[in-house]
Amino acid sequence: MRLNDKVAIVTGAGSGIGKEIANLYANEGAKVIVCDLNEEAANDVVNQITSSGGQAVAITANVANEEDIQHLFDQTVATYGTLDILVNNAGIMDNFVPIAEITDELWDRVMSVNATSQMRTIRKAMSIFLEKEKGIIVNLASAAGLQGSRAGVAYTASKHAVVGLTKNVAFQYATKGIRCNAIAPGGVNTNIGTTMSEPDAFGMERVMSGIASNPRSGEPSEIASIALFLASDDASFVNGTIVQADGGWMAY
Ligand code: NAD
Repeated sequence: MRLNDKVAIVTGAGSGIGKEIANLYANEGAKVIVCDLNEEAANDVVNQITSSGGQAVAITANVANEEDIQHLFDQTVATYGTLDILVNNAGIMDNFVPIAEITDELWDRVMSVNATSQMRTIRKAMSIFLEKEKGIIVNLASAAGLQGSRAGVAYTASKHAVVGLTKNVAFQYATKGIRCNAIAPGGVNTNIGTTMSEPDAFGMERVMSGIASNPRSGEPSEIASIALFLASDDASFVNGTIVQADGGWMAY
């Protein structure tokens, strides 16, 4: 039980990587706030966890909305009294749209869900973490946060922002008992493709040119195990790190 009695928020926990992290954290003894835009999916994950003897509650929230984030934190503290671990996992794709075609609307939507949301949840968590002089943050970045060739311009910029956010938070609060790390997955088998309605033909052709060098797709469990390591005391000296998990894709 590596997370015994720890209170953890996992955003985007209704599907894919977040769902796997929520289940694994609960198996390791954490009390999990299963946060998702999709109420039904969040409730299903909570039912899975509680029927296996774990502790979890669902909170429906759009992480792009400041009021929803306030509600998420209010409910977390009202339910479990505190927060120990924040996993910023919710994210959406960008239809591979390149800069010549990007609209302000798409840019703002992707940046607000993927990057601004993480700034806001961390800002909120800080008031709790600084008082305790203890706290753990795990952000989902992407290979697209380290390379220019994996998505459209908005997703790529948003994930590079996550990398910068992660390193700055880690640096600023390194003497305050707070650790902040990120995971940069390559391709993982989840439902994120459903956030792509009409991929841009030119952008997709450019992105797909790199697919041949991808050794394989990963499974959500292969990312969740990293999120467990980063949240546990096993990673007590790990801070400001971006963990690449892509089966060797970035080594190409
Ligand atoms: P997924 O689509 O399977 O799950 C994402 C979950 O987030 C969904 O349940 C969705 O309802 C929720 N969500 C979306 N927007 C939200 C919002 N505004 N507020 C609250 N919840 C919201 O996707 P996934 O692949 O598991 O993605 C998880 C994270 O991993 C994302 O940040 C994604 O960018 C990152 N990532 C995924 C891959 C991949 O190949 N799957 C690769 C690199 C990084």
